[in-house]
Amino acid sequence: MSHITSNDLFQRALKVAPGGVHSPVRAFKSVGGTPVFFKSAKGAYLQSVDGDQYLDFCMSFGPLILGHRDPEVQEAVMEMIDTAWTFGACEPYSLELAEWMTQTLPWLEKVRFVSSGTEAVMSVLRVARAATGRSKILKFEGCYHGHCDSLLVKSGSGLAGAAASDSAGVSETVAKETLVAPLDNIAALEQVFAEQGSEIAAVIIEPLPANFGLLIQRQEFLKKIAELCKKHGALYIFDEVISGFRVALGGMAELTGINPDLVCYGKIIGGGFPVGCYGGKKELMELVAPSGPVYQAGTLSGNPVGMRAGLVTLKKAQRENLWSNLKTKTEEFTGQLKKLFSDRDVNFKVAQAPSLFWIHGSQIESPNHLHQITGQHTENFKNFFHSCLKNGIYLAPSGFEVSFLSHAHDKEVLSEALIKFDQALKEYKK
Ligand code: PLP
Repeated sequence: MSHITSNDLFQRALKVAPGGVHSPVRAFKSVGGTPVFFKSAKGAYLQSVDGDQYLDFCMSFGPLILGHRDPEVQEAVMEMIDTAWTFGACEPYSLELAEWMTQTLPWLEKVRFVSSGTEAVMSVLRVARAATGRSKILKFEGCYHGHCDSLLVKSGSGLAGAAASDSAGVSETVAKETLVAPLDNIAALEQVFAEQGSEIAAVIIEPLPANFGLLIQRQEFLKKIAELCKKHGALYIFDEVISGFRVALGGMAELTGINPDLVCYGKIIGGGFPVGCYGGKKELMELVAPSGPVYQAGTLSGNPVGMRAGLVTLKKAQRENLWSNLKTKTEEFTGQLKKLFSDRDVNFKVAQAPSLFWIHGSQIESPNHLHQITGQHTENFKNFFHSCLKNGIYLAPSGFEVSFLSHAHDKEVLSEALIKFDQALKEYKK
């Protein structure tokens, strides 16, 4: 495959955007080489500007649970575009999605739409601080919550839970407001609460951590957080930007039976358009302006095109019993993938949770915290990624990003994928 046009475009992009991209992972920094530029997509496939076709497992990092340009969603979007694009005023489209969500998910009594997952997280932290009158937020190492300042932190040294800035431009003053604990470690969690419990406004977690590989947590750990939050008067926030409407209709809140105080959504609820959302208990959401004193606003919040795309996506998924079908399909597919790795004597493992999977090089099948991931993984994945690319498979360009299956990944597509993966593995070994 020649990438001449992609290479030319990337050279131009480097002149006008930092690193040539508008979100870092797209730049291929961790896998090396020049990013492929895509011009169109349909179902499970991407078409590049170089004239090549790729079978997509990145799926825009999660929103496209029905696949690219699902016909029903496309029809609704086209209809909306013919009707109105944005009002900056009251309209029925966000109302319909909000009603559907609050009627479907019992832990959502009220919701507020925003334009990204980051915005949802940023806003929910403000609500938590206002509700509790406390300032500290506890997060977990290996969970990503978007790029809001206070969560761009890593664990610091010294005091249990202490954090340090993890990005230039995030001040240490802001970083100090966040505490960081390891995943899957009840003792560390108890220690942080024992020492600073009265200052913690909220604990935020990806209940299915899927931004540093796929680090599936034990139910016992997620329940312990709930117990400690209750005991110490802190709020429990589920960041379901990836897992929401992905692992089940009710996301991880449904699968774990935990009722979080506040939840963040994004990705799937916009059906491929920029939508985020936060919601939860009525008394907490009533703190948000104009009902309450927590200011939060957005020019394009509840944008009608995203609202329609989201609602049609969710209703179709519900009608087609998509979540259980996807789970079965992904289990079968990852089983076959594991067999390929073993037949070809390649030391990769596959962690899987409903319709997400992660190819990795750890000792154990399904690691659940950062320290179980081996140092070699990045280098091994880099070679594997390029073999896949050469054979027409597009994985997310980082060894720590997960892959997604969609409704469009049907039997034929997945059989084709296995043939391509097998070919990629033959070349990878050389
Ligand atoms: N929270 C989680 C769990 C995410 O995975 C992401 C993005 O991948 C975000 C928040 C931020 O969402 P966005 O990229 O829409 O700002």
